[in-house]
Amino acid sequence: MIEQAALQFGLWQVLDILAVALILYQLYRLSRGTAAIHIFVGVMAIYLVYQIVDALQMRMLAEIMGQFIGVGVIALLIVFQQELRRFLLLIGNRQVMSSAPSWLQKWLGRSVQTSGDVARWDALKSGLEECRRRQLGALVVVPREADPSTVATGWTAIDAALSAALIVALFEKASPLHDGAACIDQKKILWAGGILPVSGRMDLPSQCGTRHRAAVGISEQTDAVVLVVSEETGALSFVHEGQLETGLSFDRLTERLENALTDQGQKTKKEE
Ligand code: ATP
Ligand code: MG
Repeated sequence: MIEQAALQFGLWQVLDILAVALILYQLYRLSRGTAAIHIFVGVMAIYLVYQIVDALQMRMLAEIMGQFIGVGVIALLIVFQQELRRFLLLIGNRQVMSSAPSWLQKWLGRSVQTSGDVARWDALKSGLEECRRRQLGALVVVPREADPSTVATGWTAIDAALSAALIVALFEKASPLHDGAACIDQKKILWAGGILPVSGRMDLPSQCGTRHRAAVGISEQTDAVVLVVSEETGALSFVHEGQLETGLSFDRLTERLENALTDQGQKTKKEE
């Protein structure tokens, strides 16, 4: 009888651990590539420290942390309401869409990027070349898994076939949408005139103005790839996961873009 109870207790414990591990893993997967990962890691760290402090019976610290964790959920909701709102939007976007079969995604109007489907970015490349020739600044966001439109604000939907002429037309100074970022995938210009979150990082090169900081900002909050043509210097920059590479050639820029959008690129990047 006792043995049976012990066995049952053991089974429930195993199930308990498995369920918690599954929930944590899913939360991690959903927040990966977004700013929410920092919140997730922070919460996990505080909880872990609390458990250790509690196990060591450090009563005062445990009590203070216990109180903190008690109101922590509400505090998190208030402090990170913007991030949580974006995160929930992202979940909807990512979870439902990326797990759907590709025919359904196509039918729902989402372009599907597979690892074998190496994009040809000729239109974008010649559009940006022309921007540089005309001394125009350009800021182009190329989404990967997370949808940057949930993080950017003030954008105008375009939904037009990607062409070099249209890229130039968007960033031409007379265009009402030239201020801000354009978002494109390999076939379409999705939106333009978007205001991106500006990174406040201190370690960026001093010549980085708000355009470059906005490129870094969106790449910190989503897994998007960002291309920048500097209006001042004509320099080309590639930004991904908060890393800014500047002074690239057009060939190198498109190569970095293609690599970042394919699994192969992920591998070669890790090997470097
Ligand atoms: P450049 O090298 O082209 O001069 P920069 O990094 O020095 O770029 P600024 O000179 O400050 O940056 O560029 C200003 C332009 O950057 C704005 O006119 C606007 O088009 C764009 N920009 C600034 N902030 C944002 C933002 N938060 N989101 C999107 N675009 C932005
Ligand atoms: Mg400038």
